[in-house]
Amino acid sequence: MTHGHHLMVSDIIISTSSSQHWNVEAARPLLNDEQFHLMLTLYLPQTRTDDHLVWPNNPSGNYSVKSGYKREMVELGSALPDLLPPRGDDPMLKQNIWTLPILPKLKHFLWRLLSLDLGTNTKLNTRGMCVDNLCPRCSGSPEKVNHLFFMCPLSIQTWRLNQVTLGYSSTFSDDLENNMRHLFDLQSSSTLTLEQKLTPFWMLWKIWESRNNLIFKNKSDSFILNVMQVMLQLKFETGLRRLRRINCPRTSGVCVRQHLWRWMLEAESKA
Ligand SMILES: [Zn+2]
Repeated sequence: MTHGHHLMVSDIIISTSSSQHWNVEAARPLLNDEQFHLMLTLYLPQTRTDDHLVWPNNPSGNYSVKSGYKREMVELGSALPDLLPPRGDDPMLKQNIWTLPILPKLKHFLWRLLSLDLGTNTKLNTRGMCVDNLCPRCSGSPEKVNHLFFMCPLSIQTWRLNQVTLGYSSTFSDDLENNMRHLFDLQSSSTLTLEQKLTPFWMLWKIWESRNNLIFKNKSDSFILNVMQVMLQLKFETGLRRLRRINCPRTSGVCVRQHLWRWMLEAESKA
């Protein structure tokens, strides 16, 4: 029965005008035990309908640009960093990422950012997806990585408004690698706190998050508020790391939580 055409699910279904059931005898030699038992658990509708193409990334089964876009982002997100070829003039720049004391998800994100592998509108266009090329936040320029994080008027405003909290003022240029190098160079500063050195990387993450919220959830975030949250979150994380480093019996279980709450309250009152 498989000769001359690809095997279809309908090949193992016996269909009459009033009912449908699995053709167990035909299916048995074609499927392994697991597939066979799985097949038996599947309910078949009693009325036959013609096969049609279904887009699995949308509950309706129909393709939409938004769901295609989202799928592309998820696919890009699942790519492992070390599988991506080095790009740009300075592949060594990326080595800085691995030495940062930040969460792995953030390292992965920074790697994708520097590899120009985030699903920006410009990137999706080069991959053959027909989406609007423009930056969804300002609509003034194509949405390239450097524009989104550094040159978009909203990003410029974000960096400027937070320069006091961050402890330095930054003027970014059209060169993504230079801008990122500037942030990596801050790590050797003797005047900035650890939180101030690391917050810019969280700000990049937050810019990406708020841009995605705008596209997928139609939500425009109040970004200035987020930077304060970022600082607090970071203080919490570095505090947790410090407590782990102490490694005494008092910092296990419920004790850790009490320590942290006290630490959090202190951090909050200083912020
Ligand atoms: Zn923009």
